[in-house]
Amino acid sequence: MDPAFALTVNDLARDEALCLRCGCRSQTYSRARLIALVGRDARLHLIGLNRELWCGDCGEPPFQGWVTAPVANQP
Ligand SMILES: [Zn+2]
Repeated sequence: MDPAFALTVNDLARDEALCLRCGCRSQTYSRARLIALVGRDARLHLIGLNRELWCGDCGEPPFQGWVTAPVANQP
């Protein structure tokens, strides 16, 4: 089993964020924001099932997500 499937919000480093893409845009959620929205026990590979994260514009759940470290991704 892929160990990534067992990762939860709580396993993110403090400077990591989760980038989720819906039909119209991608949004980045910080670890603290994810904990506030879905709780620290939410599994990362199922995070798109949480309605709190669904897009308000296109109404689609964000099925594609990846972990990013915002500081490292600055251009
Ligand atoms: Zn959207």
